[in-house]
Amino acid sequence: MSEWCQNKKCPEKKTQSQIRGSKGAKYYQSNKASTWIGYWCSNGCRDTWWQDHKDTCMNAVGFIDKQLLPLDDAWFVESDYSWSSGDCVYVYYIRNKNRGIKQQITREQAQSPEDIERDWCHTTIDDTQAKELAITLGLAS
Ligand SMILES: [Zn+2]
Repeated sequence: MSEWCQNKKCPEKKTQSQIRGSKGAKYYQSNKASTWIGYWCSNGCRDTWWQDHKDTCMNAVGFIDKQLLPLDDAWFVESDYSWSSGDCVYVYYIRNKNRGIKQQITREQAQSPEDIERDWCHTTIDDTQAKELAITLGLAS
C-alpha cells in the first residue's frame, strides 16, 4: 500500500494544492490517495490508471464466460424511501419480478446486523441472502 495516488500522471493535473518546494525549485506532486476510492486521489486518476493497466488486471484475475441467472431464482431485497416519520424512513421488500412478488419485510430481515448498527438505512442483504430469506419465508424452495 502507498498513501499516494497510483496514477503516475497525477502531478500533471497541476492544481494549486499540488505545488511544493522552495522558490526557484517548485514542483507539482501527486495527491494522496482517497480513502473512498482506494488507490487513487480521484475517479479521473483511477480511469487513467485503468486505461494503462486493465489488461494486466484482467489477466491476473482471469476471464469468465457469459453468466446466467434463471429468472425464477432472481430474488433481491430493495429499500424504498418512505415519507412516514420514524427512526428509519425506509421500507423494505423482498422481490422476484418473474413471479410478480413484492412482499414487505422487516428491517431486521432486509439488513445485516452491521448495517443496522451503523444505521445505514438504504443498504440491503445481497441476492444470495435474499434467496435464502425467500426460502425461510416459504416463498421459494
Ligand atoms: Zn491522482
